[in-house]
Amino acid sequence: MVQVPVRVQSAIEMIQQNFTGKDIVSFDQFTTEDLAILFDVTQRMKYIAERKMPSRLLDGLLVSLLFFEPSSRTFSSFAAAVKRLGGQTIEMQNPEQASSLSKGESFADTIRTLEAYSDALVMRHRIPGAAREAALVAESMPIINAGDGNNEHPTQTLLDMYTLYDRFGRLDNLVGMLAGDALNSRTIHSLIKGLSLYKNNTIYVLSPECLRLTRDDVVNFSDRGIRLIEIQRAEDIPTHCDFWYWTRVQRERFGSPAEYQKAQQEIVVATPQLLNTYAKKDMILMDPLPRVDSVDPAVDADERAVYLRSQIRNGLYTRMALLALVFGRAA
Ligand code: ASP
Repeated sequence: MVQVPVRVQSAIEMIQQNFTGKDIVSFDQFTTEDLAILFDVTQRMKYIAERKMPSRLLDGLLVSLLFFEPSSRTFSSFAAAVKRLGGQTIEMQNPEQASSLSKGESFADTIRTLEAYSDALVMRHRIPGAAREAALVAESMPIINAGDGNNEHPTQTLLDMYTLYDRFGRLDNLVGMLAGDALNSRTIHSLIKGLSLYKNNTIYVLSPECLRLTRDDVVNFSDRGIRLIEIQRAEDIPTHCDFWYWTRVQRERFGSPAEYQKAQQEIVVATPQLLNTYAKKDMILMDPLPRVDSVDPAVDADERAVYLRSQIRNGLYTRMALLALVFGRAA
């Protein structure tokens, strides 16, 4: 259980075109202007990373990576981002077994300990709101949310939106489809928030009844001005989408294996046939990964599948940019 922090603060701060020292816990903090700044820095980071240019942008800085839930891409791309920019990391995966949390130490004391040794903390936790709680505990160390339960995954959305921007040159007037576990996917939740910042976006959400967005989420997201259309069957997929965004059923959020298996049987899998029937020639297929029975590997060869191409690499570039900005070293 995450314990209530000692220091109580008001809501998280908006970025307001100044990332320096800010916690990054939700996509609610971003505006289109903030994203324009971040994408601009991302271009530069891509240049540095692609040419393997030595960089000392984060010289002298130490970032802690504290991951209570498993991770491949988020963990390694953050570690790579820090190191490519000349910073250093303290890396803790599975802290409930590997740290003093296993002896009964509190969540708050764990955060305070890392604050004593590092300049920023990237944290993943299974409990929604845990990143915000860490931000309340830490007095000066920025907290970056690397996924909090089924709530949000803001840095995934930075890379997803950069991938769309890079491909289409705009983030408005897009038609997209988000498929899979809309109920539990934090990447879907943050991405809808991100796409809501821009005008005239239409998002189809393809999921079986048991994995639909909550009614509260539908109201909350629709209030932001985005057009959300829920569909349940492959036959309902519109043929004019600019992108598809597939997600796996989030097994770790289910009460029992039987419930998970039932949900798994009801989802639509992205196959070559599905693309041939419903996808435009110039669309892209994204997936935050891991894909587990969600995208057929036979699709990988299709040039429209970007999840193992640009999307995965953009995770490094956008996280380099975010760190440079949060440390005030991007200029
Ligand atoms: N890697 C993403 C996340 O952490 C997507 C997933 O796990 O399905 O949310």
